[in-house]
Amino acid sequence: MYLKEALENGNIAGDGVFDERVCDFLQKKLASPKILTVTSGTHALELAMVLADIQPGDQVIMPSFTFPSTANAVLLRGGTPVFSEVDENTLCLDLDKLPSTITKQTKAVVPVHYGGVSCPIDRLMSLAKEHQLWVIEDAAQALGSTYHGKSLGTWGHMGCFSFHGTKNLVSGEGGALSINDAEPNLMERADIYRQKGTNRMEFLKGEVSHYTWVDEGSSYAPSDLLMAVLLAQLEEMDHINQRRRQLFELYQSLISPLIRTGRLAGMARIPEGIQANYHNFYVMFHDQATRELVRKLLQSQGIGAVIHFIPLHGSPMGKRLGYAVEDLPVTNRVSAGLLRLPLFTGMEEAQVHHVVERLRLALEAKHEG
Ligand SMILES: *Cc1c(COP(=O)(O)O)cnc(C)c1O
Repeated sequence: MYLKEALENGNIAGDGVFDERVCDFLQKKLASPKILTVTSGTHALELAMVLADIQPGDQVIMPSFTFPSTANAVLLRGGTPVFSEVDENTLCLDLDKLPSTITKQTKAVVPVHYGGVSCPIDRLMSLAKEHQLWVIEDAAQALGSTYHGKSLGTWGHMGCFSFHGTKNLVSGEGGALSINDAEPNLMERADIYRQKGTNRMEFLKGEVSHYTWVDEGSSYAPSDLLMAVLLAQLEEMDHINQRRRQLFELYQSLISPLIRTGRLAGMARIPEGIQANYHNFYVMFHDQATRELVRKLLQSQGIGAVIHFIPLHGSPMGKRLGYAVEDLPVTNRVSAGLLRLPLFTGMEEAQVHHVVERLRLALEAKHEG
């Protein structure tokens, strides 16, 4: 019981023994040069924008099909989020359309790894290099996924992870930033910013006799209690993802016939080159009306089928940034047709069968009525 051990240790603040073990584990597992734990995936994104030195006037490209935190991190630095289209197959940035959103003001691009899968990120890295852009991966859903054998979150200059209660591995609230850029200055600045603008990390390493205020900063170190909870799960990471894979593949085999007969338009598939963490499973409907009908029917039967994400460009805040709902048709279409089906580590095969059977009946009822 790591949690009990953490309580008995007496140090429940940040940067304790469990924090160190979490960082060591993740650095090895992901082959990351440096992992910093933070209090949320949101804070990992905010810290990354600080380190990339996003300033007023800077533009940062991202999909509209993401969680508000991706865009907020840019807004908080005074920068402007620029929404680009997603690819219908991956629900990640469409790299053919990305170049048309790059301008002289573009400073960074944030690929969001939807459901733990990514766009062809090697291609994105070359594109970014050509235009001298930072790549900050929103890998909040992608811990444990790889693209051509290299961990997602370690391809870009920085990668942001989340351990929020809704993710595969959780500490309730929590996150991590992987700093992949060899620039030593970046790592040092990260330590200082995360520790309230002080050189406390140097002090903890015994490099200075006391610590003091050295730069701008905030407070992003998670309590060691949470890191104890997280470490226990990280050690089960391979089992957890293996179990999710079985459930995901069972869903795929049961849903396939519904796609063949034309009742459904599609479902989650793992793209070429990706080893996934099976973060979620979704089906795609032909139209929003059917999706809503089925969603409500399933929910009335106690099945937590949910929509995800509502595109940012069409939100009240997106409109304030100058977007109109019809601006990103592919994003709108996938978001209107998508329904996530329950997928959790402790789920039984029988429950997957039950969900799919209910879904099949709902589609039939709709067809006949
Ligand atoms: C969950 C999530 C976040 C936010 O992570 P928190 O730990 O909840 O702050 C950011 N981006 C994406 C794509 C997410 O799924």
